Amino acid sequence: MRVLRTRDELRDALAEVGRPLGLVPTMGWLHDGHRSLMRRARADNATTIASIFVNPRQFNEAADYQRYPRNETRDLAICEEEGLDLVFVPSVEEIYPPGFDTTVSVGAVARPLEGAARPGHFDGVATVVAILFDLVGAEHAYFGQKDAQQVMVIRQMARDLAIPTEVIACPTVREADGLALSSRNVHLSPAERAAAPVLRRALLAARDRWAAGERSGDGLRDAMWQVLSTEPLAIPAYVSVADGRTLAELERVPDDGPSLLSSAVRFGSTRLIDNEPLD
Ligand code: AMP
Repeated sequence: MRVLRTRDELRDALAEVGRPLGLVPTMGWLHDGHRSLMRRARADNATTIASIFVNPRQFNEAADYQRYPRNETRDLAICEEEGLDLVFVPSVEEIYPPGFDTTVSVGAVARPLEGAARPGHFDGVATVVAILFDLVGAEHAYFGQKDAQQVMVIRQMARDLAIPTEVIACPTVREADGLALSSRNVHLSPAERAAAPVLRRALLAARDRWAAGERSGDGLRDAMWQVLSTEPLAIPAYVSVADGRTLAELERVPDDGPSLLSSAVRFGSTRLIDNEPLD
């Protein structure tokens, strides 16, 4: 496995590799969710590359960026274990050289939910992923369904900017109690960690109501609120029942199209998100 730190090293390494090429963009502190993306990338491609870059532009709170967990040695060992060929570990200056002054800003699909709750977040995501897609030129790139809106934003960005990399969404990997794996879980206190699966239970309660025939958006949102309100450590930011293509909030869930249940909940200083597709 080769570790590449600069654009030049990356370009030279990529000139020689077999195709197709699969890219797994990450912010490090790798866990089994990242590993599942790497495995899928290996299964689909002749060559696989991960990027590890804690992207300052996608953090809407400076403190969240500062305390984001980092451990390059451990991350590289995981990439090696997963059999990756290349890992791109750029510095902030390598991605955003002096004088950098462009923002990629996706429209409607980036506005609700995480876009509304975290101003500037998706501009940062779309900008860094556009740069990575351009530098790497992979045929395929792998993202987690856990960040469902992020997948939609990146698909829109790639389509609109005529970037030929195909965006592939992979299933959410969870702990045994349902909590979606996330690098931020490391910040949860033991009591918060014990409380956190309420987010998954809320989504599943709404899914059950939907499976039993409930089609009212408010009915399904109530189902989520009810479960979340049983947990004193859970401070919900939003619950959503939205169109699975536009993320517009739904009054009624249609029988013929994809819909998405999602929620963001704070436990102490740690903000977690999760979602459940209805289709
Ligand atoms: P991050 O390092 O948190 O930016 O995540 C890098 C990629 O891993 C993103 O595409 C995430 O959606 C994905 N990811 C994060 N957590 C999970 C998970 N629990 N299951 C599957 N994919 C995940």
